[in-house]
Amino acid sequence: MHLDDQPDQSLHSMLKQVFGFGDFRPGQEEVVRDLIAGNSVLAVMPTGAGKSLCYQMAALMRPGITIVVSPLLALMADQVASLEANGVAAASINSTLTRDEKISVWNRLTAGELKLLYLSPEQLMNGRLLPALAKQQVSMFVVDEAHCVSQWGHDFRPEYRQLDALRNLFPDVPIGAFTATADAPTRTEIMDHLLHGDGRLLVQGFDRPNIRIDVAQKDNAKAQLLAFIREFEGRQGIVYCLSRASVERTAEYLNRNGYQALPYHAGMPADVRLANQEQFLARPDVIMVATIAFGMGIDKPDVRFVIHMDLPSSMEAYYQEMGRAGRDGAPARALMLYGFDNIRARREMIAGSPASEEKKRLDVQRLNALLSFCEAPSCRRTVLLRYFGDDHGAPCRNCDACINPPELYDGTHEAGLVLNAIEATGQMFGRTHIKDILVGGNTQKIRDARHDALAVYGAGKDIDARDWQSIFRQMLAAGLIDVSLQHGSLLIASKGWDLMRGEGTVDFIKQKARKAASRRPASRP
Ligand code: ADP
Ligand code: ZN
Repeated sequence: MHLDDQPDQSLHSMLKQVFGFGDFRPGQEEVVRDLIAGNSVLAVMPTGAGKSLCYQMAALMRPGITIVVSPLLALMADQVASLEANGVAAASINSTLTRDEKISVWNRLTAGELKLLYLSPEQLMNGRLLPALAKQQVSMFVVDEAHCVSQWGHDFRPEYRQLDALRNLFPDVPIGAFTATADAPTRTEIMDHLLHGDGRLLVQGFDRPNIRIDVAQKDNAKAQLLAFIREFEGRQGIVYCLSRASVERTAEYLNRNGYQALPYHAGMPADVRLANQEQFLARPDVIMVATIAFGMGIDKPDVRFVIHMDLPSSMEAYYQEMGRAGRDGAPARALMLYGFDNIRARREMIAGSPASEEKKRLDVQRLNALLSFCEAPSCRRTVLLRYFGDDHGAPCRNCDACINPPELYDGTHEAGLVLNAIEATGQMFGRTHIKDILVGGNTQKIRDARHDALAVYGAGKDIDARDWQSIFRQMLAAGLIDVSLQHGSLLIASKGWDLMRGEGTVDFIKQKARKAASRRPASRP
């Protein structure tokens, strides 16, 4: 039999014989094939997608030893143990080994007995190991949790930065970089630094089609919460709150309303917290009300809903947290309530942080991505998946925007008024003043600055103040305007300048209050 002619079969039989799996999960085979072919790859796959299998299989198919860089000791130990259980020769060198143990691992390596060696980045780059490895047959480098190379990312590890040198030191050895969380700038950074621009990007499977997505503006959070969980009587879910106090309050409130709710946050005594977590894991009907401290490593398949009572910290965090619902593949729901105050507070936090200007700029971009998701006029899933580079194109039919499409109107004229007012006043004023100009307000500030003499003064008086606020929000979400981090003044963004030049149009969502006030009933097919 010529295995080479039937690579499918040889990979599948290895999958079965070595790892005991009947099939690849989505995306795995492509990554394995690329690595076997000797190509460098950046694989972005969600947690649980089975990243380890990708490089472990490739390691077995290539001659020589694969070096795996991983930031976590516990993770390395797990992987080595499970590889050994599958009959694969693997080891790790780490700070817990004695000198003799390290020598013994090294002897196995030079004898060609090892297929995979796990290391921390410090161990690999410590100066002695690399020259020694250069004399061995290294088949591949694997960088796990590759987003740690990103200076702008949420988990930067300076020692990962040294890995940038690998490409030059071993120009012919492919590098496999793996991560579950890499937005566009982080990806670019991994591609440029670690892979020196020479690698394939593979993004896989972020969609969780069984989770229905809803996002709503917070107006009466408690009532919104009760209305939502009514259909989940006796089922379990997670309610995420921003603060410990609101965790306590919300859990009490649910209990008063007849639900079995338990609080969980880092300020509670460890034993109580643990007991609550255990109840949640053991019982089929408990609602966990928690800060984001809850959930790491929790793998309960039948969580039916996840609710965010506040804006999550990022798209990545949102995706990870809502993804704790419906692991069993059965219908589940995710609801996010957001208030514009959340966004303002986040913006102020970024502005006040000691980070570099570049980092601040990227943090603002990330926040705006979240805002675009909240204000999406069409399919939310499309916005979410596009953020992870996994756009399926078609609307999902399983989010609030698909099921209950918001009423849209052509807002090009309104947007134009806003842009004109911002430009005419030198991009120096915040939203309240711009709104006052548009509605023709008679404030001291307007009189002092003679803004009542502007052509746009009063040009938007048919629209009430609340609707202008919504228009500002949607313009921000659509990338037409920006908010200055220093002063909170509105700025014209590049798409805004395009629109002012007459390029393109923009649709806005009609707000509920507006809809109710409108005399003509909405005509929807
Ligand atoms: P990740 O690192 O992407 O979060 P892991 O590599 O830890 O994911 O894999 C998650 C789980 O999926 C592991 O228990 C692994 O054994 C399992 N797994 C991986 N590939 C497959 C497969 N093809 N079929 C079934 N289970 C798989
Ligand atoms: Zn949708």
